[in-house]
Amino acid sequence: MKPSFRSLALLASLAICVSSAAAQTARFDFYARGPYRESVPRPQTITRYDVGDFHTNYATMERVINSIAQAAPERVRVFEMGLTNEYRMMRLLAISSPENIARLDEIKANVARLSDPRQTSGEEAQRIINGTPIIVWLAYTIHGNESASFETMMQVVYQLAASSEPTTLDVLKNCVVLVNVCENPDGHERFATWYNANGIGNPDPLAAEHREPWSVWGRANHYRFDLNRDNLVASQLETRHMQRAYLEWNPQVLVDHHGQTTQYFFPPAALPINPNLPSAPTARWLTAFGRANAAQFDARQWDYYVRDVFDIFYPGYWDSWPSLNGATGMTFETDAGGPRGYNWRRDDDTIITFRTGIAKHYVASLTVLETASQNRAARLNDYYEFKRGALEEGRSGPVRRFVILPGSDPVRAGELVDILLRSGVEVGVAREAFQSSRAHGYTAANAPAISRQFPAGAYVVDLAQPQKRLAKAFLEPETPLDEAFAREQLARFQRNQRRGTNADKEGYNFYDITAWSLPLAFGVEAYWTEDAGGTMTPLPRPTPAIEPNAVEAPENRNRMRVPDFVRAGGVAGGRANIAYIIPYERNSAASLAYRLQREDFKLAVAARPLNAGGRDWPRGTMVVRVSRNPETLHERIAQLARETGVDVFAVNSGFNETGETGIGGENVVSLRRPRIVVVADDPVSQTSYGALWWTLDRYGVDFTPMSIANLRRAGNLEQYNVIIMPDGSPGGYFTAFGKSGIDNLRDWISRGGTLVCLKGAAVFAALKDVNLTSSRLVGSDEDETRDKPADKPADKPDAQATPTPSPTPQGDQSGAGQRTRQPQSTAPPLSPEQQRDLSGQTEKLMGAPPDLPPIASPSAKPERVPEPVPGAIMRAAVDRSTPLTFGYEETHLPVLVDSAYFFRPSKQGTNAVVFAASDAQSLRIAGFIWPGNTERLLRGTSYVIDEPTGRGHVVLFAEDPNFCAIWRNATRMFFNSFLF
Ligand SMILES: [Zn+2]
Repeated sequence: MKPSFRSLALLASLAICVSSAAAQTARFDFYARGPYRESVPRPQTITRYDVGDFHTNYATMERVINSIAQAAPERVRVFEMGLTNEYRMMRLLAISSPENIARLDEIKANVARLSDPRQTSGEEAQRIINGTPIIVWLAYTIHGNESASFETMMQVVYQLAASSEPTTLDVLKNCVVLVNVCENPDGHERFATWYNANGIGNPDPLAAEHREPWSVWGRANHYRFDLNRDNLVASQLETRHMQRAYLEWNPQVLVDHHGQTTQYFFPPAALPINPNLPSAPTARWLTAFGRANAAQFDARQWDYYVRDVFDIFYPGYWDSWPSLNGATGMTFETDAGGPRGYNWRRDDDTIITFRTGIAKHYVASLTVLETASQNRAARLNDYYEFKRGALEEGRSGPVRRFVILPGSDPVRAGELVDILLRSGVEVGVAREAFQSSRAHGYTAANAPAISRQFPAGAYVVDLAQPQKRLAKAFLEPETPLDEAFAREQLARFQRNQRRGTNADKEGYNFYDITAWSLPLAFGVEAYWTEDAGGTMTPLPRPTPAIEPNAVEAPENRNRMRVPDFVRAGGVAGGRANIAYIIPYERNSAASLAYRLQREDFKLAVAARPLNAGGRDWPRGTMVVRVSRNPETLHERIAQLARETGVDVFAVNSGFNETGETGIGGENVVSLRRPRIVVVADDPVSQTSYGALWWTLDRYGVDFTPMSIANLRRAGNLEQYNVIIMPDGSPGGYFTAFGKSGIDNLRDWISRGGTLVCLKGAAVFAALKDVNLTSSRLVGSDEDETRDKPADKPADKPDAQATPTPSPTPQGDQSGAGQRTRQPQSTAPPLSPEQQRDLSGQTEKLMGAPPDLPPIASPSAKPERVPEPVPGAIMRAAVDRSTPLTFGYEETHLPVLVDSAYFFRPSKQGTNAVVFAASDAQSLRIAGFIWPGNTERLLRGTSYVIDEPTGRGHVVLFAEDPNFCAIWRNATRMFFNSFLF
């Protein structure tokens, strides 16, 4: 039975929107395209509620799918892809005509041959195309709280399995429809359970049911990753399962079903389009599918838009990644469901219902199938041509190869290569040393060609391969933005600079980071070359590291594993007499150190260069003394070294041949085991918390998640020596801690605690009224270094220039520099992540600054306030005299700048990583920055700060070092903040 409020809402909508009443309220018939075979059960016979009256949970959905598949085995096959972190089985259905279902393996093999023109001539390709159905992949619910997608899927499966309508039969004959039933089962289950238990169908945007609590936030997966970003690094189990299945089938068309935009969205996509895609066929197919949808929507008087917002630039989405694989990859966004609940009142007082949102996705799904069916041969042919063109470009283009050196962290380099292999990129290992006469490094934008000898064992990605376009998109130092797009953003920027300080600013159309080059993000030495020589041994595609169905705790399923092809990890020199030396060059050495401490082994670290075992070791090298540890050390360190891929060295004498510091030296300092609290719950960013959670699980580090309320209740917190505050709203942190909470925090730090603040939390620490650091934010009213008062506009009432932090999280959301357009003005005061949920315009934002600190008061002149940077890679200088940079021997690092948070150097602490004012080179390595603003204001600021306070420390990171699991170069620095 329906809650009475929903009937009221229906009446209200009838009364309000007279002209569109028919379109809005006519109940969509999901069973109009029969006749249907009675042997196949309708979803409602199992769910017991009508479409859109309730949210289907995962187990019920499984019963629906399995019942349909069992009733129609000649049309439907079910494949298991693998388990999620919460033990839900991910499934892929293949639905097609009985004739096609009987020869699925043959079809798969045929399409695989089309995907490799090296093996398949044009004539053979034509023969295959003539007799092979097109592969269409329909994916649902990547964002678990986009719930119309989930319900739509069951209706689509039923239609295809049960209908005898001629059009549907044609689709089945011409297509193998792959239905990825749910891309994010864990997120959907959190959302559906919460909404079903709380929703009453009230359309008022202020009603509680339209705001998910912090711990629900069904958009993300278990580890609160946005799975629609993860195709770049495939850090999550779901992504790995789906990529493996995808590359087994090689689809030509893919649709990813989302929600909830203001009106329905389907392609053609907005600019910028990733320039590695061939522009003409990409545009032609997106337009063909878009026009087909438009005809259906126009006929039903359903509103929609195309282009406008959703681009295909960043390669980690589920439309861009398939596109780079040769498919027509599309994002569809419906306008109802999810946190909009059963009913949602729009800003013109009309009501949109969950059921209508489902109906629109349903029509769009079937329209895509019909369009693919009608264009089967032409689309298959363009798929073959995509791969042939890619191969051709790779053989003749300016970029012939990428060379990645295993270097000092072969595990990290191996992880990068593993990511490429998972995306189907062919990678070889150099059998012997080889020469390139035209190699370009990654250390600066447009690095000039040099002559370079590469060692045996170097990883080589030769672009003369069918995956050339994807490989290049992942690896090139910079992917150029469409010029017209960039010009338009600059024009808006210039207009904004001229606008009055209180005037509304134009937004920008960046959806995500504009630079992601994997060699830079991983901090591995790499080159691209204009030539190709030497002989390579190809690496095999990775097999699942763990059986998909193995019984295994989530943290173990995500524990780091050394890729099979990397030979690293173990103890050299046998059983140590005096000590084991752990070099700190590899990210995973941090894991080894922590896991030894966790088992109560005693470790020390060399604060200065060390000489031991006849060798010199850089500062940061760890020492495990035999005399301070139990007998079990020898066995455990050998085993953990293998697991973490760290080469450990046994030393049999304490005598240092040279230098000041040996194993027994004064500068070899004992380490204390970190006992870590991670701040959770509002106002913490869920994605920042999740990336931290995943990183710590991956390295086997224990922590206690704690809300601020409990932190305040817990009193002196003596059992913990580290508190990590993930990215979050600075104003929200301020409100949640309150004055007494901040004072307690300061006392705890001065007694010896280490507070680690990421991004928005670092802004919180730098607020004048918090003052946990002597650094201040550039452009804030508290920024004394800012250009001096002579410039201050005289016409400003003092009241508006008040420098105090905004007391409420909402206040922070005024968003003076938010990266994209503001959500609808009718939106209730939601959390930033929730605003993103509700605002389709920010659908593609990735871990963006959740909100702004109270920096830009009306008195701030625009030229003194940093414009938020849409994710660029910048060059920072490393201070190699502080423990924060242990393990970093280079003078400069590529770092991500993805906000307007620029920090003045600390006056009392250590500025460990800075944007040096004296740096003559451009700071920009890759990505979009604002001319006259970003570099000018960033120069001379700090990226990582250590602020000693009493016996403790506050460590500030300007950006989130765990961001989307992409920036592996920052991993050790993050660990340094609490290990040493
Ligand atoms: Zn979405």
